[in-house]
Amino acid sequence: MSKLGLKVSNLSHFYGPKCALNNISFEVENGHFCALLGPNGAGKSTLYALLCRLFSAQDGEIAIDGLRLSENPRLALARMGIVFQHPTLDLDLTVRQNLNYFAGLHGISGKTARIAISEALHRLQMAEREHEKVRALNGGHRRRMEIARALIHKPSVLLLDEPTVGLDAQTRRQITEHVHDLASRDGLTVMWATHLVDEVWPDDRLLILHRGDIICDSVAKDISQKRSLAETFAELTESEGA
Ligand code: ADP
Ligand code: MG
Repeated sequence: MSKLGLKVSNLSHFYGPKCALNNISFEVENGHFCALLGPNGAGKSTLYALLCRLFSAQDGEIAIDGLRLSENPRLALARMGIVFQHPTLDLDLTVRQNLNYFAGLHGISGKTARIAISEALHRLQMAEREHEKVRALNGGHRRRMEIARALIHKPSVLLLDEPTVGLDAQTRRQITEHVHDLASRDGLTVMWATHLVDEVWPDDRLLILHRGDIICDSVAKDISQKRSLAETFAELTESEGA
């Protein structure tokens, strides 16, 4: 029950002399939704690059679903699904063809792939669009499809980096709800990076990242207390002319 979906210990990252992450540590329990809220430049994408091993950690330790990334990279990464900040879909393939290609990269093929893809599309209410070319889809459907893709190999930890940027308010809301459900209903550990306070729900676990430091780590409603989260977030992050 108390197993950790994510554990980050004393993680730092520098781009040359610039410190993008400053010795951060946090834990996310299995099956919890954790929002990572931070303004542009806070270090969110840098953290994701380290979590998915796009960058190897210069310092500190990461464990995914109890597996240390430095010791068991293949097994640890197999437990993780990721939706990057910038879309990575082949526009001229259909939805199913894109997902099939990804399944193949994970060594999943044939009937197993067909079933896993159908399940993932169902979960994101995208089943009826499986034969449409991605180019024909609107931004919200493309994002849902990327979330479906991240679920095909049945990860236990799902990481999303600003997955709703550029979408209209209603679509943002629907996708935010879907992904909350993936944690509460399906038991995935979710980390959702955003700079938008309205995507954080009162009962969410909330990390606020600012200039490479975690400046809050609690439940959202406890951080904002009687004020709105928007006010609290602005006050915490707008100092020194940020
Ligand atoms: P966020 O995703 O929260 O907007 P990033 O992780 O992209 O933040 O960036 C954190 C900091 O690191 C920013 O100050 C950014 O300018 C800097 N940074 C990001 N990528 C690079 C890079 N490739 N080279 C140098 N600095 C970078
Ligand atoms: Mg980013």
